[in-house]
Amino acid sequence: MYPSRFSYEAPRSLSEAISLLHDGGDDAKVLAGGQSLVPLMKLRFASPELVVDINNIPGLDYHREDADGTLRIGALCRHVHLERSDLLKSKQPVMAAAAPVIADPIVRNRGTLVGSLCHADPQGDWASVVTALGGHVVAQGPAGKRTIPMASFVTGPFQNALAHDEIAIEAVIPAPVGTRAGGYLKLERRVGDFATVGVAVAIETSGGAVTRAGIALTGVGGSTINAAEAASALVGTPLSAESIERAADLAAQAANPRTDHRGSAEYKRHMVRTFVVRILSRADGTAAERAA
Ligand SMILES: Cc1cc2nc3c(=O)[nH]c(=O)nc-3n(C[C@H](O)[C@H](O)[C@H](O)COP(=O)(O)OP(=O)(O)OC[C@H]3O[C@@H](n4cnc5c(N)ncnc54)[C@H](O)[C@@H]3O)c2cc1C
Repeated sequence: MYPSRFSYEAPRSLSEAISLLHDGGDDAKVLAGGQSLVPLMKLRFASPELVVDINNIPGLDYHREDADGTLRIGALCRHVHLERSDLLKSKQPVMAAAAPVIADPIVRNRGTLVGSLCHADPQGDWASVVTALGGHVVAQGPAGKRTIPMASFVTGPFQNALAHDEIAIEAVIPAPVGTRAGGYLKLERRVGDFATVGVAVAIETSGGAVTRAGIALTGVGGSTINAAEAASALVGTPLSAESIERAADLAAQAANPRTDHRGSAEYKRHMVRTFVVRILSRADGTAAERAA
């Protein structure tokens, strides 16, 4: 199917893009990698009157670490850049585990992490990863910049906290306070598929104890699930079989899956529990694994 008729603009600066969005109102949409927006337009689930393509805006295709260890991912940083990133492989085990299991190579060549966060698909992998890592999104609009914690950025299925004239310019992962570990595991029916179940676990340890933890779930609810209670169960003590089991039970309780052609609700809940145990039980917690 062809999309409905729309106007197309390809501004060369952020200020121009923001002013186009401002004037376009609710009928204007940002185009980044186009890997979610274009299929939706072709299916006519989305029919924007104005598409504002941000691909010609310079300086947004980065991912870099600040001197203090904060990681910044620009709005035009593609999945493939993160998949091939030595920085992630050496310092961001959860992101390094997730990057190769996003979609397929063709989608990874164009799609962006920030676009994935904005799309807010309950089956989007990056939203869980950034939530578990305690990240935030920096938005820029006519009034300037503001920071939105990832835990409140997704406001519902396919809904985010941006105003119609704001652009998400970067995602930010805070610097670790301790030693990082964790991972991302995804159950998919076949390679390249969306998650039947995805689990992101990020921990930091210091002096043998867990000092910070985040657990978030993909595909087992109406939107990304921040399993905060499960994560809290890990903090303050060394990892142990008991603390891992407790966190896994709480994460499974936080899941709200539906029975469908991919599996029963009980099966999906069981997989959440299994993945939490598996990630936390690994010695280094860094390996990416497909559990298809
Ligand atoms: C076949 C296929 C398989 C896929 N499999 C997976 C998968 O397994 N896991 C997964 O997580 N994803 C998957 N995806 C989605 C893919 O990861 C997309 O790249 C991603 O969801 C959106 O990123 P994008 O840059 O392509 O955004 P676009 O499609 O350009 O935009 C998506 C939405 O976000 C908005 N948006 C984008 N960027 C910004 C911004 N900077 N500021 C404000 N709003 C913005 C757009 O207006 C639009 O509403 C798949 C897609 C396809 C086509």
